[in-house]
Amino acid sequence: MARPTRVGVSACFFHADPERPVFKGKTLLYVEESMLQWLMARRALPVLLPRVGKTRAQPASALTYDDLLSDVDGLLLQGGSDVAPQSYGEEPLRPEWAGDASRDRYEIDLVNRAILSDKPVLGVCRGIQILNVALGGTLYQDIATQHPDHRTHRDWQVYDQLRHEVDIEPGSWLAARQLDSEVTVNSVHHQAIKDLAPSLEVEARSVPDGLVEAVRYRDSGVFAYGVQWHPEFQRASETELLSPFPVLEGFLEAIASRRQRR
Ligand code: MN
Repeated sequence: MARPTRVGVSACFFHADPERPVFKGKTLLYVEESMLQWLMARRALPVLLPRVGKTRAQPASALTYDDLLSDVDGLLLQGGSDVAPQSYGEEPLRPEWAGDASRDRYEIDLVNRAILSDKPVLGVCRGIQILNVALGGTLYQDIATQHPDHRTHRDWQVYDQLRHEVDIEPGSWLAARQLDSEVTVNSVHHQAIKDLAPSLEVEARSVPDGLVEAVRYRDSGVFAYGVQWHPEFQRASETELLSPFPVLEGFLEAIASRRQRR
């Protein structure tokens, strides 16, 4: 059997915290477990990609992002903290919407290098937002105050049990991968795409507020895809939701077709 597909996963950051009982003052890079299990359900081996050249105390990395990406077949961007408004040319409207600028720089570098080296990219939640920002788009810093007539897209009490419908664009890549034009997805996001990056096109929108919920890179020579929902959070019993696998399988097929060309 062929070796598993190697998917580079960008890390979430616990920045150094002098009050933390363990790893006091240390920076932790981590992956939320259901993301790992989702990948492994389709024979993809997750590989955590570290940040390069940004730590002060340690010796400088002898590896670049290109080195890291050369040893994986694709890049997956996980969810997590807000994107910093400075990453798309704005100031935070409130201090609590300041986001994580250092994680943004790391992931934007990874996205740009992955696209240049023809590695497929899949972004989940914060990942669709980073993809849009890396390619020149902007975000709503806070859906609730900046998007009139929004529906609820995040509710801490119910968390990944919050759901809404999305309309899938006719003729889109996603429409070709599953039968229904209106599907239900989970929703755990505070921010969303405002101005779409010029190289992206919309694949799905939230009903009824029209927020962008999935995007795809326009040029078919590049595979970069983002979803605003969390397919990896879905339990097998949640059959009323869009299956988590058409998007993952499409990403892995894009990887497989590139591996065959090489
Ligand atoms: Mn949503």
